[in-house]
Amino acid sequence: MVTVAREARGLTQSELAKRLEISQGLLSKVEAGLSPINPALLQGLSRELGYPMEFFVQADPVYGPSTSEFFHRKKSSTPAKLLSQLHAQINIRRIHADRLLRSADPEECRIPRYDPDDFNGSAAEVARAVRAAFQLPRGPVKNVVDVIEDAGGIVFRWRFPTRQVDAVSWWVPGLPPIFVVNADIPADRARYTLCHELGHVVMHQTLRPGMEDEADVFAAEFLMPALDIAPYLQGLDSLQKLTTLKPYWKVSLQALLKRAADLNFIPEGRSRYLWIQLTKAGYRIREPPELDFPHEQPTAISELFELHRDELNYSVEQLSKLLTMYPEDLQQEYGVKPSPDERVQLRRVK
Ligand SMILES: [Zn+2]
Repeated sequence: MVTVAREARGLTQSELAKRLEISQGLLSKVEAGLSPINPALLQGLSRELGYPMEFFVQADPVYGPSTSEFFHRKKSSTPAKLLSQLHAQINIRRIHADRLLRSADPEECRIPRYDPDDFNGSAAEVARAVRAAFQLPRGPVKNVVDVIEDAGGIVFRWRFPTRQVDAVSWWVPGLPPIFVVNADIPADRARYTLCHELGHVVMHQTLRPGMEDEADVFAAEFLMPALDIAPYLQGLDSLQKLTTLKPYWKVSLQALLKRAADLNFIPEGRSRYLWIQLTKAGYRIREPPELDFPHEQPTAISELFELHRDELNYSVEQLSKLLTMYPEDLQQEYGVKPSPDERVQLRRVK
């Protein structure tokens, strides 16, 4: 837990040791469980890392990188320190979800696990099977976050320590699958990347070669089923026409154009011409702001907070204890604010 807290705050061992005025050797042994923590050190850790002392004595499991993170680690140029920070933050959010779910009786998770090899190795076929399992109507997916949460998944959205990671998914024992999405990316990309992660959750319990491509094929078919989108993409011949499709399908212009080419709905020459037009218009860096649509907001976690506040009568202080975090962080990370009477009480205590 010391390691998790330190990494979540983006500190190295030597930085934290300096702040605590202890040797890095001692901190290293504390983190390895080779040296006991005395009360003064515990207080120091709590002060420097901004977590209550109870945080450090939690016995919750800490998980290593999921299959979806494995590729970020292997391939991206993101500094390892930022990936560790993100990873630690996910571990903490996962512990929060676990605590909050204990008093709820969540519906059974309906997100299936399919082996692509049972579908002729076709991730597109898996995507169609998942759409059928969720009973989605034909055409665009209205709200990806709702689809995932209605099926029993949990979506978190916050600003990651790095802009180079769009989303990560975890499915650990005893919990529903967790999807975390970077609040720093545009709404169209968030939808796509969540579908990519859904593909991993459904198909990739273990690493397999080509899994990144499979997750992309899954996402494309899930958001833009070939059969349904064919009439919209066949005969596509201008950037103007392409821009009319974005608000309806709620995917980026680039994803639409790539889809048209991948499915051979337009000749190669025309696809090249449209890519040039798109680049010239500057849309590869920033798609037209007038086509932006609002971000999809997760609700599963906020509903769990409402349950604790309204039905189980948890005060902000009790919730902070449950999640071993300070009330300021509870408000900042989850928007949980004291009710008017609690504010009066808190002031009186002061
Ligand atoms: Zn991936």
